[in-house]
Amino acid sequence: MPRGVAKEHLPSKICATCQRPFTWRKVWEKCWDEVQTCSDRCKSERKRMKQLANKGAKQDTPQPVQQQQQQQQQQQQHSTQADG
Ligand SMILES: [Zn+2]
Repeated sequence: MPRGVAKEHLPSKICATCQRPFTWRKVWEKCWDEVQTCSDRCKSERKRMKQLANKGAKQDTPQPVQQQQQQQQQQQQHSTQADG
């Protein structure tokens, strides 16, 4: 008598978040190609990590800090240039 389909015959993938292998499940029957994480938890975790990465990449422009100093210098020049 055959034992049925052996578990080793099921397709498996590596979770994109926890890097652990996981095997095919019935719930992924229709979307197995798109599945990249082993669980909902890893799925949301992956989303968060993506958002964090995006935020970090955007901060490459330094903020203008020298404006205040320049204003102060201009004020000083005004007071010395006053001709009486
Ligand atoms: Zn996982």
